[in-house]
Amino acid sequence: MNESDKSEINVLGQVSPQAAERCDNPRNYGPLEKWNGHARITGPCGDTMEFWLQVAEKRIVSAGFTTTGCGPSRAAGSMATELAVNRPLREAGFIEQADILEALGSLPKDSEHCALLAANTLKAAIRDYLSRSMSENRSMSKSEDCGHCSSTDCSSKERQHDESDEQFHERQALVRKMCQIGFKLLVMSGKGGVGKSTVAANLAASLAMSGKRVGLLDVDIHGPSIPKLMGLENERLVAHGQEIIPLEIGANLKVMSIGFLLASAADAVIWRGPMKYGVIRQFLKDVEWGPLDYLVIDAPPGTGDEPLSVAQLVGQPAGAVLVTTPQDLAVADVRRSVSFCEKVGLPVVGIVENMSGLVCPHCGGEIPLFKTGGGQSLAREMGVPFLGSIPIDPQIVQCGDSGMPYAHRFAESPAAKAFVAIVDRIVAGSPRKQS
Ligand code: ADP
Repeated sequence: MNESDKSEINVLGQVSPQAAERCDNPRNYGPLEKWNGHARITGPCGDTMEFWLQVAEKRIVSAGFTTTGCGPSRAAGSMATELAVNRPLREAGFIEQADILEALGSLPKDSEHCALLAANTLKAAIRDYLSRSMSENRSMSKSEDCGHCSSTDCSSKERQHDESDEQFHERQALVRKMCQIGFKLLVMSGKGGVGKSTVAANLAASLAMSGKRVGLLDVDIHGPSIPKLMGLENERLVAHGQEIIPLEIGANLKVMSIGFLLASAADAVIWRGPMKYGVIRQFLKDVEWGPLDYLVIDAPPGTGDEPLSVAQLVGQPAGAVLVTTPQDLAVADVRRSVSFCEKVGLPVVGIVENMSGLVCPHCGGEIPLFKTGGGQSLAREMGVPFLGSIPIDPQIVQCGDSGMPYAHRFAESPAAKAFVAIVDRIVAGSPRKQS
C-alpha cells in the first residue's frame, strides 16, 4: 500500500480508529489457497472486489478478499470477511451494508458504497458455494424419477386417460418438485396495499431464521415486489439446463420471482387466465428448490387467476394465510378469500392483522392507534384461526425500500417479534410432510 492510500482515508476524515486501522492493515487480504465459494463484482464506482470462502459443515471457516479500490474499500472488505468467518452460512448471508458500517464505526459518507460492494460480494460468494454444492448433490443423487417415492397413491404414478406423453411427464415433474416441499403457504389478501408481500417476505425470513429450509416464491405476474423487498432487483435468472436455480439469501432461504422470467410486466397485462396458469405451472415445475420445509408463495391480491392456479397446482399439504388491516377489516373481503379457499380445497391457516398499532420511533413502544381485537373477532366470526397482529413500524418501509429483510435486520423490534410469534403458530398448526 502506498503513502497516498494511507493518507487518503485520513484526508477524508471522520473515520473511526477501527476503519482507519483496516485501511492501513486489512485483515484476510488476498486469495485463499483452498476455497469452495468465490465471487468477483465490480461496483458502480468502478472498484472490483473479489471474495474467496472456505465453507465446511455450513459454516464459513475462512475468507479472503482483494479489491482494486482504495482505503475505505479495503476497510469494508476486511470487516466483511471478519464478520463472516466462523459464522453459519445462513447468518453470514444476512450480513448487510449497515452491519459492516456499524462494525467499522464510521466511513466517510461518500465511501459507504464500499460496504455495500463488500456485502454484495460476500453474498455472491455464498451463492456460488451453494450452487456448487447443489450441482454436486445433484450429480450424486441416483434418480430423478418419481419411481423412488414409496407412496402408492401418488397421482403422478398413473397417466390420466386424456393425457399425452408430454403432459404426463410434465405433471410428474411438477409433482416431483412439490413432493420435496413440507408445506406450501399461500399468502393472500382481499386487496392491495395491506402489506401482503411484506408479510410473505418476513414470514419467510422468520421461518428461515428459526432453522427451517424455506423458499419464497413470487407469482405476481403484473407487479412482482419480492425482488425489491429482498434486494434482488438486479439479479438475473440462473438456469442449469431446464432447471431454474433460485437465488439464495443465507443457507436457509431461497427466493424466486416470476418477475425474473418476464421480459416486461407490461406484456403480461394482456394475458388471460389459461396463459397465466401455463406460466405458473411451468414455473412451479422448473424451479429447483431441492427439499424445503416451507414454500411461502406471494400471490397478487384478490381471488383471481394467480392464486387459483397456485391452489390447483401445488398439491397438499398446503394452506392460506389471509392478510388484512384494522382499517380494512372488511368482512366481505375476508369472507371472499375464505370461500375461495373452501372452493379450491385450501385450508385457511389463519388471519394476520397487519399495521395494527404503531411502533414509536423514539421509545420503541407500541401505540394502539386503532381499536384492537378486530382481527381476532373477525377470525372468530369466520371460524378460522387468528395468527397475530403486526404493528406499523416505519423501519419496515425503509427496509422494504432498501431490500433488507426487516425481520432479520431488526430482530429485537416488536414487529419482528410478532412475525416470530406468527411463525410459531404456523409451525405448530401446519401438518408437514416428512422430508
Ligand atoms: P401489498 O403486497 O399488500 O400490496 P406491500 O407489502 O407492498 O403490500 O406493502 C405496502 C406498503 O406498506 C409498503 O410500502 C410496505 O413497506 C408498507 N408496510 C407493510 N406492512 C407494514 C407495517 N407493518 N408497518 C409499516 N409499513 C408497512
